Amino acid sequence: MIDQSTEGAPNSGGPGKSTGNGNGSSSLDLKIFDLAVKALYYGKFKAVRDIGLSIEKGTITAFIGPSGCGKSTVLRCLNRMNDLKRDFRFEGQIRYLGKDIYAKSIDPVAVRRTIGMVFQKPNPFAMTVYRNVAYGLKLNGYKGNHEEKVEQALRGAALWEEVKDKLHSSALALSGGQQQRLCIARSIATEPEVLLMDEPCSAIDPVATHKIEDLMRELKTKYTIAIVTHNLQQAKRVADKTAFFYVDTSGSERTGYLVEFGDTHEIFEHPKQKFTQEYIQGEFS
Ligand code: ADP
Ligand code: MG
Repeated sequence: MIDQSTEGAPNSGGPGKSTGNGNGSSSLDLKIFDLAVKALYYGKFKAVRDIGLSIEKGTITAFIGPSGCGKSTVLRCLNRMNDLKRDFRFEGQIRYLGKDIYAKSIDPVAVRRTIGMVFQKPNPFAMTVYRNVAYGLKLNGYKGNHEEKVEQALRGAALWEEVKDKLHSSALALSGGQQQRLCIARSIATEPEVLLMDEPCSAIDPVATHKIEDLMRELKTKYTIAIVTHNLQQAKRVADKTAFFYVDTSGSERTGYLVEFGDTHEIFEHPKQKFTQEYIQGEFS
């Protein structure tokens, strides 16, 4: 957890724990993330503004919207991955289990270790299947049985049956869809609270995509998931909540912002905002 390696970092707040504010209300217990993003900059360019939403435990939240509206930028803020980009600047607050992960006392490396991310292109390490999954366990100094944990993670990622006889072969020999599930196994091996996925299916075929979608539905019973997708059908199929982002072109810049956030069926069937209606109609017509 973040606080193990950092002084003054968030409370231990593991799964289902209260937020540590002395406020034990159950609605707060359900909140994993609370975003109050004012602005996100790359150098002088304001890429995103005004994102306010919360992500509840055990749900899948989809970020949708046209290319360049800041979906990935916002997703990467949830585990401070953007800090690795040159000139990135964050204004606002993101609370994870009640604690501001952008507070000065927080170690971003520990945040990234706690909140896993799966990318668009499967990126297994050039090592064996087994070592890919055991990697995070080693890094975290996990004291338990690594073999058991690896099997458990591979089963959790619906990959075990396909790889149990090639655990010690190179991960790079797997198919794209298998590699993506391996990356998911690698993320869940350390039992994170949250999984962030940035267009995890855009580089794999439709059959593999359906497998990953089935997997997401299974995983959300244990993990909270936030996913960026350009595939509206996918958002409709898997997400409980959907956030629709759009680009404001009224000024000289193209700045992404949150237009509408709510239950997925509401966003798709009864969008309240004109931009949401137009975008969804356009994409489905
Ligand atoms: P999306 O995922 O919705 O397509 P992004 O979050 O990738 O959008 O990008 C939002 C805006 O920020 C875009 O205008 C993009 O060009 C810009 N951007 C993204 N990453 C960087 C970066 N590393 N440096 C500068 N600008 C960036
Ligand atoms: Mg993106």
